[in-house]
Amino acid sequence: MRLVFLGPPGAGKGTQARELAREWSVPQVATGDMLREAVTNGTPLGREAKAFMDRGALVPDDVIIGLIAERLAQPDAKRGFILDGFPRTIPQADALERLLGELGVSLDRVIYFDVAEAELLRRLTGRRFCPACQSTFHVVFNPPKRENVCDRCGSTLVQREDDREATVRKRLQVYADQTAPLLDRYRKRGTLTTVAGEGKIDAIHAAIKKAVAG
Ligand code: AMP
Repeated sequence: MRLVFLGPPGAGKGTQARELAREWSVPQVATGDMLREAVTNGTPLGREAKAFMDRGALVPDDVIIGLIAERLAQPDAKRGFILDGFPRTIPQADALERLLGELGVSLDRVIYFDVAEAELLRRLTGRRFCPACQSTFHVVFNPPKRENVCDRCGSTLVQREDDREATVRKRLQVYADQTAPLLDRYRKRGTLTTVAGEGKIDAIHAAIKKAVAG
């Protein structure tokens, strides 16, 4: 099971990837989560990435490609993986192809999460995030049982720096300019399946499983 989850920020990739990775016992490889962890831990990678992330820009390709190469070489990725938030540019997609070629494997499917822009804005600005276990919630659509407390681990939820409205608008523009062109590439290769990313979390979950099975 080697999948890419592709779509704009706020499309629900992380929520679905986390759940399906658990169900299938494969790692969720989320570059955004890896970078946030590096920022929290103050590593050299985190220090380099933080300024890009805070202003809603992409971290340079060579940094991300190095990170992914290391991650996919780990033993737990042998059984498969869900790439969540990577690739995000044409050079990243080229690098992924090279890497998978070296590992002697290929992608099974690219799932595109289709969500209207107005909905993305609503979702992102209301999103709350658990810094301890990475779970995400939403003040309206997916509230935690206790206000501002993570259902999974009990930590206090926070708003991501880059989920403020001005930065969200910038991230959506970056997506349109740099990531959306990947759709055409995967569509032409016949590996792209579009899933309606609006609706109930369970229904989207079922649609992805159907796309992967088919
Ligand atoms: P995300 O959690 O996927 O929305 O990612 C948060 C931020 O991390 C993005 O706005 C980028 O600054 C950075 N980032 C995550 N994945 C990538 C990637 N594949 N390429 C470049 N930057 C990335």
